[in-house]
Amino acid sequence: MPELPEVESIRRKLNVVLANRQIQQIEVLRDKSFLAFPIFGQEISNQTVVEVKRRAKILQIVISGERDLLIHLKMTGQLIFVDVDGKRAGGGHPTADWVNDLPAKHTRVIFNFTDGSRLFFNDMRVFGWIRSPLKIDVSKEFVNYGPDIDDPNLTADYLIDLAKKRQIPIKQFIMDNKVICGVGNIYASESLFAVSLNPKIPAKEINPKQMKKLLQAMQKIIERSTQLGGTTFDGKYVGVDGFAGGFQNELKVYGREGQPCLKCGSKIIRIKQGGRGTFYCPSCQCI
Ligand SMILES: [Zn+2]
Repeated sequence: MPELPEVESIRRKLNVVLANRQIQQIEVLRDKSFLAFPIFGQEISNQTVVEVKRRAKILQIVISGERDLLIHLKMTGQLIFVDVDGKRAGGGHPTADWVNDLPAKHTRVIFNFTDGSRLFFNDMRVFGWIRSPLKIDVSKEFVNYGPDIDDPNLTADYLIDLAKKRQIPIKQFIMDNKVICGVGNIYASESLFAVSLNPKIPAKEINPKQMKKLLQAMQKIIERSTQLGGTTFDGKYVGVDGFAGGFQNELKVYGREGQPCLKCGSKIIRIKQGGRGTFYCPSCQCI
């Protein structure tokens, strides 16, 4: 599953290549990937891309006209833009479709632009989706979400206030989308290690100073990963220009069970919290 840095990295790339392109025609090869398309497909055709935004892990392609496009990559989605010279930009779940001829077996939707360039939405497991709500309804998609981790208005005071009533461990607290969006499993473990906080501490026991440090660590680590293109565990396609991430080379605890802590040499341990693996150093993160 792509985490926020991968999605934000794709957004930054697509924002550059899609701006000002005019949609000529959209081909939906798998109905489930773009369910209501037959109803309003005509309204999207001929519209021009203004910019690509993001909220949580949902990409928002702002187009001219009454509607916008929302895209969720879920587990295995990819967005691959191919210009008229065959140059590619985008990303998503690492598969051979990064380098294969397109459309590929898992291509579900194709956006054809008037200049001959195309954007392919590939999705092996078909959990991802494209929707096209009216612009005035876009915000309704996000009513149950807390602020994004990179929201400039997000403060430690806000987190402390929500944490007051919460018994759940701090790791699960920071991964709760209703609290903040964008702190996925990898980044929760890495951020708690960065500030030497035990992932099992009840959220309400975190003091304001610790919360401030934790927020800064989360924002710094997630931005660093975004700049590196996120975390890609399948190295097979790393050669594709700009597609694979580089943050997997900077992980301090995630995926390092049994290996020595980079600060103190103790063995990194792995526990399960809310069904997800948590990695931490029992010596550095004993409180
Ligand atoms: Zn340690």
